[in-house]
Amino acid sequence: MSGDLTLIPADLLYTGMGLPIRNGAVVVGGPAEARTIAAAGDADTLRRQYPQAAAGRPAAVLAPPPVNAHAHLDMSDYVFQALPYFRWIPEVVVAGRQARGLAGAKRGLQAVVQSGAAALGDIVWPGAPDVLPWLLAETEIGGVAYLEVLDPNPATAEQTFGQVVADVKRLRALERPGGLRLGLSPHAAHTVSHKLHRLLADFARREGLPLQIHVAEHPSELDLFASGSGPLAESFARLVQFTSPGLTLGEVLGRAPGADLTPVSYLASLGVLDARPTLIHMVNVTDEDIRTVAQAGASVVTCPRSNANLQCGTFRWTDFAAAGIEVALGTDSVASGETLDIFDEIAAARRLHPELDPRLIVRAAVKGGHRMLGSRAPFLRRGEPWSERYRWPEKEN
Ligand SMILES: [Zn+2]
Repeated sequence: MSGDLTLIPADLLYTGMGLPIRNGAVVVGGPAEARTIAAAGDADTLRRQYPQAAAGRPAAVLAPPPVNAHAHLDMSDYVFQALPYFRWIPEVVVAGRQARGLAGAKRGLQAVVQSGAAALGDIVWPGAPDVLPWLLAETEIGGVAYLEVLDPNPATAEQTFGQVVADVKRLRALERPGGLRLGLSPHAAHTVSHKLHRLLADFARREGLPLQIHVAEHPSELDLFASGSGPLAESFARLVQFTSPGLTLGEVLGRAPGADLTPVSYLASLGVLDARPTLIHMVNVTDEDIRTVAQAGASVVTCPRSNANLQCGTFRWTDFAAAGIEVALGTDSVASGETLDIFDEIAAARRLHPELDPRLIVRAAVKGGHRMLGSRAPFLRRGEPWSERYRWPEKEN
C-alpha cells in the first residue's frame, strides 16, 4: 500500500459481515484510479493504527450499495398519489392502466440504476408481455424479474399453469450471466386459487425459481380470511363477478374462511411457504404468523413509504427481527412509493421506525436484499477495491 492513506470515518460502517458498527472507518490507499481498502473497523482503533492517514470527509453510512428488493417498474409512468388503499386501487392502479408497460419500465429501470441500487427485485405485470423479455435480455442490473400470475378461479388453474410453464421455458432462455434471473410471483394469497398456488409453489421448488407474493398488505386481508367480509371481500367479489361470474371465496380458497385462518396460515396450509417465498408487505399479521414465517425460513420485503401512503399500517419490524426473519427493503411502484430511489426508502424507514436500531435497516437494505435475490454484496475489507458508491448519499429523513 502506498503512503497516501486516507481514513474516512462513518457514523455507521457495514463491511458486509456481521452487523454494522457505529463510529467506524475505512482506510483507503493506492493510486487515485485504483484505490484499495487497507483496513475497515472501529474509527478510534484505526486512527491509532494509521496515524499517518489523512482525515477524509466523514460519511453518515459507509456500506455496500443497497438493494431495491421490490418494485413494479412497468408502473413508472403512473402519477404518485397517497390515497387510502381502497381508493388508490380504482383511482390510481385501474384508472392509470394505459400508462403501464415497456416505456414506463424503461424509465423506471433508469431511475433504479441512477439511484445506485446494487440489484433489483421487480414484479412484471402479465398485461405488458414485452417487459420481461427486455428485462432479461437487455438490462445490466442483477436480481430477479418475477412473472406475475393472477387467476382466482380453480377451474382454470391447470390451463393457467400450463401457460406459466411455457412462459418460463421461453423466458429462461433469455437469462444472461450477471443479469436478472426469472422468478414467479403468484400475485397475492387471495387472487390466485388454492389449486394454482399449489401448482406454482411445487413448480418453483422443483425448478429453483424464486417466488415473491404480496401478503397481508391491508388490514382487511385478515377479515377476508377470517370471515369472508369487509372491504377487501366486497371489492374482490365485484372483481370476480366481472371475470368469473358465480365464483365464491370458498371456491377460490378451497375451504371456507374461518377464525383460525390468516393469509399466512392459509399459504402455509397449501405448502406455499415450503418453497421459501419472499413475502411482500406483511403488515397485518398475528404473532403466530410471525412464528410460522420464521419456521418456514421465508423472508420478507417491507415497503415503508407505500404502506404509509396507502394507510395499510406499520410493519412490525422489531418483532420480525426478534424472530430471526430476513428482512429486505423495496420501494414498491412510484404509484404508491413515490420514487424508485432505495435511499429514499431507507430514509423513510428510519423516520417511520424510530424505535428500530438503524444498523438493522442498513443491514436489511444490503444483506437482506441480496439474500432474497440470490446475489452477493461486496465486502469492505483489506485488499478489496474501494468504491465511492460505498459512501451512501445523505437523504432527509
Ligand atoms: Zn407490490
